[in-house]
Amino acid sequence: MSRLESYVPIVGSSVIDDLKILATRLSGKVIQNINSTSLGGGVAEILNRMIPLLKELGVDARWDVIKGGEEFFDVTKKFHNALHGRQEEIGDGDFDVFMKASEENIRDINTYGDIVFVHDPQPIALVKKKKDNKWIWRCHIDVSKPDQKVWNFLRNFIASYEAAVFSSPTFSQQLDIRQFLISPSIDPLSDKNKELPPETIEEVLNKYEIPKDKPIITQISRFDYLKDPVGVIEVYKQVKRYIDCRLILAGGTASDDPESIKVLNEVQERAAKDPDIHILLLPHNDIIINALQRASDIILQKSIREGFGLTVAEALWKEKPVVASNVGGIRLQIKHKYSGLLCHSIEGASFAVKQLLNSPAYARRLAQNGRENVRNNYLLTRHLREYMLLFLSLYHQDQDVVYL
Ligand code: UDP
Repeated sequence: MSRLESYVPIVGSSVIDDLKILATRLSGKVIQNINSTSLGGGVAEILNRMIPLLKELGVDARWDVIKGGEEFFDVTKKFHNALHGRQEEIGDGDFDVFMKASEENIRDINTYGDIVFVHDPQPIALVKKKKDNKWIWRCHIDVSKPDQKVWNFLRNFIASYEAAVFSSPTFSQQLDIRQFLISPSIDPLSDKNKELPPETIEEVLNKYEIPKDKPIITQISRFDYLKDPVGVIEVYKQVKRYIDCRLILAGGTASDDPESIKVLNEVQERAAKDPDIHILLLPHNDIIINALQRASDIILQKSIREGFGLTVAEALWKEKPVVASNVGGIRLQIKHKYSGLLCHSIEGASFAVKQLLNSPAYARRLAQNGRENVRNNYLLTRHLREYMLLFLSLYHQDQDVVYL
């Protein structure tokens, strides 16, 4: 069975048939994706799954990664935080660093695509190379309340794109170009999300010396302030006063994220050698993440800001009860008390975790609803369809109806 056909039992054959029709309309077009890391974080996660599937559909999709030194990624991380609304000191020097690295990438990167699909702010200035091809800027960040200085700087580049894509309606901005709302997705057949035999889950728990003797609460995330790992430890401590449990805080780093070691050190300090807190700095290994998610009783995502939160979709797809912050793209995935529990504080999160641990039937119902929501809205097949429609729409700008 081809990779494409393997999705039929999950989403039905008509969804796959639609994808094939749309793909034929894109034949001859090169879709060039550009981002800032090939590994780590949600964008790389999605592209790694999407590009091969587009190729199998016959679409000539490619992927290039910009280069940047430590200084550049320090600045882009500050931009990232500031766009999410976090207070950051950003001066003229930072914009100079950004432009210097951008100029080097403008010189070195060949923007050969018929459609150049640029992800997030790091490569945004490449649009200065635009000729008669079409450019899309894909924003994965919650820019509902962005730092105005950074946003205005980016706007100058965004204006040269044909279209901008945001993950949630609340992120859209006043822009002179067309805007599209397309939420991210997970791949149900990837190593990260496929079913696993119980032995694999057990092996992973053994490898990290995590006994399955009490309920396990887990947050999987890069060690990043905006993921609030220290808040997660506080939640665990509050729950632990009433219900004996373990906490797994697992994450790796991304090559475009310079802050993680600092955050990890803080987390380790706060955990203070509690033997029931398992802080894992993971290698890039999707089976390990999958197994940890499946071994958990509750998945937490206590983000302070979140563009979408693939980890939430991953947990819901595995039919896990999720407690997550009521922020950004998480709100798309969790309807409070229907497909998970949303929280606004450490106290709220610990209350929700206790409630779910004390009411397994309720937890199960939320988890089942969560999985169906992901099946209907957040799988790769829906995402591919919307991206292909977006690509096609660029060639039919003035038409109300396009016959496929
Ligand atoms: N992830 C991973 N290893 C880690 C931490 C995270 O593979 O150590 C994955 C996680 O499973 C998810 C993605 O990276 O697929 C993170 O995407 P998300 O949207 O949750 O957050 P981002 O990192 O993009 O802010």
